[in-house]
Amino acid sequence: MTLKDHLIEFVGEANLSEAEVDCEAYSIDASTLSAYPLIVVWPPNDPEKISYLVKYANRINTPITLRGKGKGITGGAIGEGIILDLSRHTKISRLSVKDSWVEARAGTTIQELNTVLREQSLFFPCIPLPSTHTLGGLISLNPIYYGQSYFGPLKNYLLEAEGVEGTGQHPDLDPEAILGTEGTTAIILSLKLKTTELVVQRSLSLSEFDELPVALNAISDIKKRKDLIGITLTAGAASDIVGSQKSYAVLAEFASDHGEIQDLSTFAVAESRFKNIISLLSERSYLFVEDAKLELEKLFDLEQWCFKKSLPLVCWPDLGVAFVKFTREQEKLRDQFRILIKKLNGELGCCFGHGRLKKKFVSGYKSNRVFRLKERMDYNNILGRGVIIDYK
Ligand SMILES: Cc1cc2nc3c(=O)[nH]c(=O)nc-3n(C[C@H](O)[C@H](O)[C@H](O)COP(=O)(O)OP(=O)(O)OC[C@H]3O[C@@H](n4cnc5c(N)ncnc54)[C@H](O)[C@@H]3O)c2cc1C
Repeated sequence: MTLKDHLIEFVGEANLSEAEVDCEAYSIDASTLSAYPLIVVWPPNDPEKISYLVKYANRINTPITLRGKGKGITGGAIGEGIILDLSRHTKISRLSVKDSWVEARAGTTIQELNTVLREQSLFFPCIPLPSTHTLGGLISLNPIYYGQSYFGPLKNYLLEAEGVEGTGQHPDLDPEAILGTEGTTAIILSLKLKTTELVVQRSLSLSEFDELPVALNAISDIKKRKDLIGITLTAGAASDIVGSQKSYAVLAEFASDHGEIQDLSTFAVAESRFKNIISLLSERSYLFVEDAKLELEKLFDLEQWCFKKSLPLVCWPDLGVAFVKFTREQEKLRDQFRILIKKLNGELGCCFGHGRLKKKFVSGYKSNRVFRLKERMDYNNILGRGVIIDYK
């Protein structure tokens, strides 16, 4: 029997494909890497059947790569063995308004979730730049997200998880063991998430500066406010795009009427310019983005480096997160950026993960953690083989 024949037993013929057109489509994600899979599977939402499939993959030593929308930019959703596409698992199964939680399947996008929650004046705040992430992709990347200063880290919102570990064990998953592991320990099938109340009163404050130290001083003051949702700082071409007359623009968002921008249309214009800045820079040929976490004082060194190279910089200074954008021709500069962040004791991949592309730069803490979890949950290295670490 072929691989296909075996997998048909677990998932049915309609739920898999070896066709060139499908394998070709799944051989890429939003990164610059590619890997041609053996077969693409759209599994039924049945942990037991998926567990059989995983146990079979263990027996024949064939890796499985998990995929949500495939929009990750570090190559975590591509692989040479079996691709398991979970993006069709999009159901919001239970919602408790009284106790502020929701249960949803892993393929549900954050946008879909928030559309349903909004009707109940609830909100799931962990929204990375694009809200088209699947919940499975989000939890497995565990990014720092805009608004985290106010709403708290993603781990506070993950109450329970169900799925299948790399050994085939199912259905309960240890939430701690899936956060930030990028599909290398378990297949997330459904999640119970905490929700929060929709913030009704919001306002913005916009300021522009000629000097970075002056901007950083102002940011230090803003950071002390309890009603602060988030701050965005732009420099270089990023400041041009948000319409700043000066080199540095700072937009602060408050869960109160503290900011001077409150009328809906001005608010919407300012918010969308700053929130879409990474995509807007792509339209100016800055197609590639690098992310880093570093101390606020080190931001000054990073900005000086970006200034000398004429690179646009966007920061969430309250969270110590910086994004730098590069053109296609600036591959060498991207490498230099990664080295610089290491020198500044910063951490790469805090928002976009490490995947296959950035595993060379993974911190000792993260690689040790993933190694230990692999020993426990996926010792044959079936899930996400080659992602974050080269295990065994
Ligand atoms: C302009 C721009 C801005 C971006 N901003 C951000 C940002 O702020 N933060 C951020 O994190 N990303 C960001 N990204 C990257 C990208 O949007 C996300 O990484 C991606 O959307 C993650 O969701 P996905 O469903 O596409 O996951 P995929 O790309 O399909 O998968 C991502 C990772 O999650 C794993 N995975 C997926 N589903 C599951 C599952 N059910 N169980 C276990 N593991 C699973 C995959 O194996 C892979 O390692 C940005 C991209 C662009 C182009």
